[in-house]
Amino acid sequence: MSIRKLLMIPGPTPVARSIQDEMGRETVAFGDPQFVKDFKEVIEDMKEMWGAKQVYVVAGSGSLAMEMGIANTVARDEKILIASNGFFGDRFVDVIERKGIDFELMQVEWGTTVTPEMIDEKLQSGDFNAVTVTHVDTSTGVVAPVEEIGKMLNEKYPDVMYIVDGVCATAAEPEHLEDMHIDILISGSQKAFGVAPGLAFVWASQKALDKRESLGTIPEYFADFKKWTPIMDDPSKYYATPPVNLVWALQESLRLIKEEGLQNRYDRHRKMADAIQKALESYGFKLLAQEGVRASTLSNIIYMDGVDDMKFRETMREEGAEVAGGLGDYAGKMFRWGHMGNIDEHDVVGGLAAIDRTLMRLGIDVEPGKAIGVFTKEYAR
Ligand SMILES: *Cc1c(COP(=O)(O)O)cnc(C)c1O
Repeated sequence: MSIRKLLMIPGPTPVARSIQDEMGRETVAFGDPQFVKDFKEVIEDMKEMWGAKQVYVVAGSGSLAMEMGIANTVARDEKILIASNGFFGDRFVDVIERKGIDFELMQVEWGTTVTPEMIDEKLQSGDFNAVTVTHVDTSTGVVAPVEEIGKMLNEKYPDVMYIVDGVCATAAEPEHLEDMHIDILISGSQKAFGVAPGLAFVWASQKALDKRESLGTIPEYFADFKKWTPIMDDPSKYYATPPVNLVWALQESLRLIKEEGLQNRYDRHRKMADAIQKALESYGFKLLAQEGVRASTLSNIIYMDGVDDMKFRETMREEGAEVAGGLGDYAGKMFRWGHMGNIDEHDVVGGLAAIDRTLMRLGIDVEPGKAIGVFTKEYAR
């Protein structure tokens, strides 16, 4: 018998049975009255739960959401400050550059975060119309102070568009457009929502919607808010075919989130991440993200001496656990464990046990069960 596969990458994350069941339902017409009602409910929940004036739920992935966020809120003759904590922060360069929009890239050492002070210093020049911040950069496992940055922007630069990439954060790290003065929040279905890949989400504030109005016709077709707004307001209308089963899957994901409670979900992620990270350190691993800025959605784990990356990840796979490799300068030096969405203690203990078995097979001195003990004790506190 082959061992069951444990999905430990930072997206797609494990899809709960009840969400999978929605994917397996018989597909209906997008104009089916029950589906229209379901889609409407999804849109209303998404707006309310994240404090947005509008939300766009479309077929696509997080990268499409990034493109939508930029295309609808920044004019071609404007300038964006890209406040980047790593690989995904830097991805905005590619999105922005090819639109011919001017930008400045602000980078920090991997494992640390951009701060409100750093952004404030840049914005004092008065040159910038928008700022992008990656809430959790999946390449480093660092969480940015999104709320503090929003507060600073609202006080000092109320006209600057605040664009937050929440692809590896939304539904696990606290986010609220109104409370945190976020204008655009970007996310996708396959990370902390625990839905299969295939949906892109963009939430917009009133300021973002007004800005879209002022832009007139934009070159983007599929990514244009103005094409989608009528559909989001009335899903019985047609623009481009909605992925019916994925919308149902999202509806079930939202039901699970509401059942748990958003705040409880945030607390669970924080508590679980703290316990996982303590357990990982008990092996002698170092975490890339510095203490105090560690994300609750994933851990980026630097190997101890003597561990070969390919061998480690291949052995993990043989032991039934799929982890991700490092990016950029950390390729070959680190593995990444996504622990977000609809996972529980069973997944974590199973993941730690797979790490135990893998390190043993690689000849690393490890006491099997020790890290599980650390996790269990910490999580029970
Ligand atoms: C995964 C990810 C993306 C890209 O999302 P895709 O769904 O792979 O297109 C963008 N930003 C962050 C922070 C991510 O983690």
